Amino acid sequence: MAERVFIGLGANLGDARATLEAAITQLAALPATELVAASACYRSTPVDAQGPDFVNAVAELHTALEPLALLAALQAIEAAHGRERPYRNAPRTLDLDLLLYGQRLVDEPSLTVPHPRLHERAFALVPLIELAPGFVHPRLGPLAALPRPDQALERLP
Ligand code: AMP
Repeated sequence: MAERVFIGLGANLGDARATLEAAITQLAALPATELVAASACYRSTPVDAQGPDFVNAVAELHTALEPLALLAALQAIEAAHGRERPYRNAPRTLDLDLLLYGQRLVDEPSLTVPHPRLHERAFALVPLIELAPGFVHPRLGPLAALPRPDQALERLP
């Protein structure tokens, strides 16, 4: 059965917005996957990272890919955008996070779902609520009731 899955996208190098648009097209082309919706793009100042402002968005997928297969697919898309990790939290061409996978809890060495920092980051939570205000986080309850993190965020036209 296809699950409602939410992917956080971020980029802060090069033409970040064009990178996000290309990545969303690549998400839509994954096997057994359908793109349901994409949020607006948001500009945020870096948290725990360096370099220029980030552009962020969230995409909703329906997918039959299992969480670890989906993570591998996300990492392949990141790699296709030439992401390099010379040091921790280095500026990145493209960062894809698996935020929520239906009501599924995943606790694997390479994958934690829901994403453990989702509710602490306005750049993930705000676009997510734009897409799915009624969605219930399996650990924290309704998304729309979560406190908004204190982080400057600008919704781009
Ligand atoms: P980052 O450099 O912040 O993108 O972190 C990437 C690492 O986080 C990868 O090695 C993933 O295996 C791991 N990871 C754990 N949970 C998640 C998640 N929910 N979404 C994406 N990456 C995750």
